[in-house]
Amino acid sequence: MTNSHVSNPIGTTDLLGAVEAGGTKFRAAVLNSNLGIVNQIRVSTTTPGATLKAVTDFFASHSSIGALGIASFGPLIVDRDSASYGSIAPTPKPGWAGTPLLDHLRDATAVPAAIQTDVEAAAVAEHRLGAGRGYDSIAYITVGTGIGAGVLIDGMPFRGRDHIELGHMPVRRVDGDAFEGMCPFHGDCLEGMASGPALQARWGATPASLSGRNEVWNLEADYLAQLVRVLTYAFSPDKILFSGGVGARKHLAPRIATATHRHLGGYSVSHATNRDLIATGALGNDAGLMGAALLAESLLASSPQTFSG
Ligand code: ZN
Repeated sequence: MTNSHVSNPIGTTDLLGAVEAGGTKFRAAVLNSNLGIVNQIRVSTTTPGATLKAVTDFFASHSSIGALGIASFGPLIVDRDSASYGSIAPTPKPGWAGTPLLDHLRDATAVPAAIQTDVEAAAVAEHRLGAGRGYDSIAYITVGTGIGAGVLIDGMPFRGRDHIELGHMPVRRVDGDAFEGMCPFHGDCLEGMASGPALQARWGATPASLSGRNEVWNLEADYLAQLVRVLTYAFSPDKILFSGGVGARKHLAPRIATATHRHLGGYSVSHATNRDLIATGALGNDAGLMGAALLAESLLASSPQTFSG
């Protein structure tokens, strides 16, 4: 607030801190005002204590940042009326339920901090910097270990009391598919039928080794097209981007587009003629981290501490 950065007064507080909190690894980075990565680390997600210590040690040992953005795996408490705002919600992931991610990292770095889900952050990044540029409303879907969706309406994340959980929507079983589904909560919801682990369990092989098998990817596309149908009818986005270890696979987007055409049954206004509705994200594995950096950037932009010249 005062002259704590006298040793390097020009631009020090323009540096952005970004954390992508993932279920298998955390990535933390310091970025400059052009969103270039100055420094970064990746640490395995183990216990909250060990993982968060590695992250806070990283920020303590690098150039001071002006603000911190966090993109977190879910479920995340995003209800601002809750005393647990910014904490991990009850989750099967051992040890993480109730972890006050936002409060902990804000206290440790002593800078303004904000949090959103990883898919919301990735959606914002694709909208600002990637395949969603120039569109008013987009949806971003990641298909990997789980299935998550973020929706931006006029560039702003759509949320209710909780963040959306469209990965757990029900799906209509494709004729002849006897796979029972593997969601611990719902069994044969979308995630239970079409996540990476579901693919692997159904076919007995890794997604990478199933390349080129039409029956595998057409079935996958059929389930994902059911989500596109819901997104189309609920939000009517201009663009729906697929990402993640399964979702970003080559040739999947056109298959989803074909299956979507069938699932819409000819009933839609604008999307019947929108051949570019479905695409693959452009930022790949960087989308979540860049979204976190953009969140930090927005805090700096609204901060009264920003240097004026
Ligand atoms: Zn489910």
